[in-house]
Amino acid sequence: MTERGDQQADEVSRAVVSPDTRPPVIELIDLHKIYRVGTELVHALRGTTLTIRENEYVAIMGASGSGKSTMLNILGCLDVPTEGEYRLRGQDVAKLSQTKLAGIRGRQIGFVFQSFELLGRTTALKNVELPLVYTHTLRRRQRAATALERVNLLDRAHHRPNQLSGGQKQRVAIARALAQQPDIILADEPTGNLDSTTGEEIMDILDSLHAEGQTIIVVTHEDEIAKRCQRVIRMRDGQIVSDSINGQSRPAEERADESSRKS
Ligand code: ADP
Ligand code: MG
Repeated sequence: MTERGDQQADEVSRAVVSPDTRPPVIELIDLHKIYRVGTELVHALRGTTLTIRENEYVAIMGASGSGKSTMLNILGCLDVPTEGEYRLRGQDVAKLSQTKLAGIRGRQIGFVFQSFELLGRTTALKNVELPLVYTHTLRRRQRAATALERVNLLDRAHHRPNQLSGGQKQRVAIARALAQQPDIILADEPTGNLDSTTGEEIMDILDSLHAEGQTIIVVTHEDEIAKRCQRVIRMRDGQIVSDSINGQSRPAEERADESSRKS
């Protein structure tokens, strides 16, 4: 076997026997989210503990109302937990002000939504460029063009969203998420509004970004999408009920261990 081959075999066997040593990107410890609606309290997350490491590709699944969006909103710094810790790349972000959160969101998180959320009157290029203005990023035009090129859409740079197909719109949204070179990409049902062939094209792009080292979390209802991810987390009633990596479920004790190491 070649030296390179040896090395690869080595890496594979280490991955099987030893704990994952990639640096954590996300650490949630006993996270709770309680919404208050009038006099009623809705306990949307009930003690979630979770570590997601660099270059993981994670699907979050679960019935409607199980807490997926609540979790994604907190992960994306769009909302804060009621209780518990959230560390993003080691920084405690659970109790930051809205202004600080907005800064972190702009620099560290790339969002992809089911409904694309593009600005209708603005070209693809400007849609990708605009968030870079808020983070005072330099060489914005160049960065935006590079991101569009990455999703193979440079030839549509000057088209507005109504001149693009659904799949092209979602590619613009992915380029927008990428332009900032975020720590994580969070995608909430990214293929939910697309036909299955177009959905596969979008997932192929996410797959290749993952292969290049990107950390990606996808909320999805579809088993076909979850199969592409190495790790599948299932939620029910605000709790993680299963967490499996490459089809191997991780026992609850191991997951609890992760949190006790922290405290
Ligand atoms: P999912 O995305 O899995 O469908 P959500 O996170 O949207 O679940 O919702 C989890 C629970 O929290 C549900 O009972 C939902 O009704 C409630 N909920 C979500 N957002 C809010 C909110 N802004 N105010 C009050 N309750 C909410
Ligand atoms: Mg939801």
